[in-house]
Amino acid sequence: MTQSIIERCEAKGLRMTEQRRIIAQVLEGSDDHPDAEVLYARACEADPKISLATVYRTVKLFEEAGILDKLEFGDGRARYEDAERAHHDHLIDLTTGEVIEFVDKEIEALQERIAEKHGYRLTGHRLELFGVPLKRGRKD
Ligand SMILES: [Zn+2]
Repeated sequence: MTQSIIERCEAKGLRMTEQRRIIAQVLEGSDDHPDAEVLYARACEADPKISLATVYRTVKLFEEAGILDKLEFGDGRARYEDAERAHHDHLIDLTTGEVIEFVDKEIEALQERIAEKHGYRLTGHRLELFGVPLKRGRKD
């Protein structure tokens, strides 16, 4: 069974203050890719005393501990996602910022072949696709 973010933080020896616990719980409950400000807004619902600076420091700490993945979707804002989520890649809609998650067997296999060709065993990859919709809805 996968451990919760709090359990993983504790296993890594991070000191878990009440506010760090709240931020960890917010992350645990997020199945999207929130940036620090979105996390801050969510955390404030649980504890209005949390500051944006605390959120920034905490996500950095979690990221450095390998608990969170930091993602860049081309708008200069760092987004975060639980590093233990099942592997997937991202397609970013540049018109709306919507993020579509996908897994493509051919891409996975191709990347392994490329690594192998260069004498490597693939241990991970990151792929972000950026695009605009092919068809737009009618303008009313
Ligand atoms: Zn994702």
